[in-house]
Amino acid sequence: MPSLPYRQDALSPYMSAETLSYHVGKHLQTYIDNVNRLKKDSPFADSSLRDMVKHACGNLYNNAAQAYNHLLFFHNLCPLPDPPSPWLVQALQVDFKSLDGFKNAFSEAALALFGSGWIWLAADTTNKLHIIPMENAGNPYTKGLTPLLTLDVWEHAYYIDYRNRRADYVNNFWKIVNWEYVERRLKQGENLIYY
Ligand code: MN
Repeated sequence: MPSLPYRQDALSPYMSAETLSYHVGKHLQTYIDNVNRLKKDSPFADSSLRDMVKHACGNLYNNAAQAYNHLLFFHNLCPLPDPPSPWLVQALQVDFKSLDGFKNAFSEAALALFGSGWIWLAADTTNKLHIIPMENAGNPYTKGLTPLLTLDVWEHAYYIDYRNRRADYVNNFWKIVNWEYVERRLKQGENLIYY
């Protein structure tokens, strides 16, 4: 269980310490415990989390993808982030016309996804950027895309702080996005050593 790069109360008031304590300490911890239990006697015993997301199926896939998705999600958040660099803004402009165009399209996808899932910014092999809503434990690696940024829209991600108001949760997400992390993932592609 990797530790978070910030304190549990650091994202408050956008994401409370209580939410982080359940989301990391209960939900993520359970996915990680399940992966460790399930992979032991499987062909994936020595595989990385990323390889399990790419190649496992069934219960092991679901738990590995949920572990991976949450680790990426918590690393693409930070308190008091810098705005995106001119380099990243330009990359987003190519496919979404503007930074705001990207944020609006991503937010719309987050509100439109029915039920539980994840909204992704992902790059294809030509580095074209895509917004991809995926249900349940979906992850862009299963479509041959590299995941760059994600938003958890399972109810457990926002119900303590926002109850049913997913739109408020999505709006506040933009205040704590770690753009530097997104840029690093886009530049490193398959060589990335981060979640
Ligand atoms: Mn979650």
